[in-house]
Amino acid sequence: MDTLIATAHYAIAADRRDPLRHFRDRFVFGEEPMLYMDGNSLGRLPKVTIGLLHDAIEEQWGRRLIRGWNEGWYTLSRRLGAKVATIIGARPHEVVVCDSTSVNLFKLVEAAGRTVAAAPTDFPSDLYVVRDRQSTNGELRLVNAVDFRSGTLADFDRGGFELWDLSHAVGVLPLDLTRRRVALAVGCTYKYLNGGPGAPAFLYVREDLQNQLANPIRGWFGHARPFDFAPDYEPAPGIDRFLVGTPPVLSLLAMEPGLDLTIEAGIPALRAKSIALTEYMIALHDELLAPFATEVVTPRDPALRGSHVSIRHPEAWRITRALIEQHQVIPDFRAPDLIRFGLAPIYTSFEEVRDAIVRLRAVLKSRSYLAFSAEREGVT
Ligand SMILES: *Cc1c(COP(=O)(O)O)cnc(C)c1O
Repeated sequence: MDTLIATAHYAIAADRRDPLRHFRDRFVFGEEPMLYMDGNSLGRLPKVTIGLLHDAIEEQWGRRLIRGWNEGWYTLSRRLGAKVATIIGARPHEVVVCDSTSVNLFKLVEAAGRTVAAAPTDFPSDLYVVRDRQSTNGELRLVNAVDFRSGTLADFDRGGFELWDLSHAVGVLPLDLTRRRVALAVGCTYKYLNGGPGAPAFLYVREDLQNQLANPIRGWFGHARPFDFAPDYEPAPGIDRFLVGTPPVLSLLAMEPGLDLTIEAGIPALRAKSIALTEYMIALHDELLAPFATEVVTPRDPALRGSHVSIRHPEAWRITRALIEQHQVIPDFRAPDLIRFGLAPIYTSFEEVRDAIVRLRAVLKSRSYLAFSAEREGVT
């Protein structure tokens, strides 16, 4: 019935050849036989994080208490920022980890003080933050490196004064911010960087712009001398001025193993595997789902896509429910009609990709999705 690529044998052989296959063992996989395809919304838990958080709570918070600030907490935002810089091709003093992506977007858009050009397909926070922002100072172009719905890559080489939202790109794509002379950027760490639910975001400001731009949220962590407790605000030189207040230390500590694993695997290897996985999923779609009303909306040219594959079907919502509740496949649904499979290259196997499409075929063939309500609810 199936051609060669659709056989389990083919997938197993591809996994055996995968140079990153050992990284799977560094993450927690539960007892249930779940095919997790949502690493682009919330990455898996690195095993090391468990012990580290345990220490952070029992030892650092429990015993060291306030002394913790001078034993590493105070410089965490910058230390982790330097690690993110390695991953996005920036210089270490150009990145800090703080606040959420939405808040960092606001800070940088306000700091730039320019008219913002955003596309209607941009992520909602990006759109809400920039709405109606006009200025005579020239234009700031907002660039979502990877479209969160279709997985399409942005045109990276247009140039101009740009703010990149790297949320769906960091950890799976070579970004080379320094080489491309990108002005500003923000991004999430809880997606492909496996930093944990609600992990703080990062913010990048190109070196030559740092002292020209002002943080619109003047907080004591962005002050030149926070511990003077001075009545007047004086921005810190450099990237520190983009900090605001006391950071969530436990969440910052939880993030580090995810960054380390990404650096250890290396972006070139992660990108190569991401292309191989998405290529494989698209080929399986074409082989196995031909009789059904599905369509791959992600670009077929690997040079134009990120690390997720979005499949369109008019019943996408109910099909997603059936995959999750009957088949232990966890993709996500994006309105109105997309089933989105995030293929995190650091821990996703070719066998998982194959099994996900085989199970999707079973749902389509049996129409078991008709048993689910068309009413959408909760976090999708
Ligand atoms: C996930 C995502 C965000 C999330 O922003 P939060 O402030 O962390 O909720 C922002 N922008 C893009 C493009 C995203 O994909």
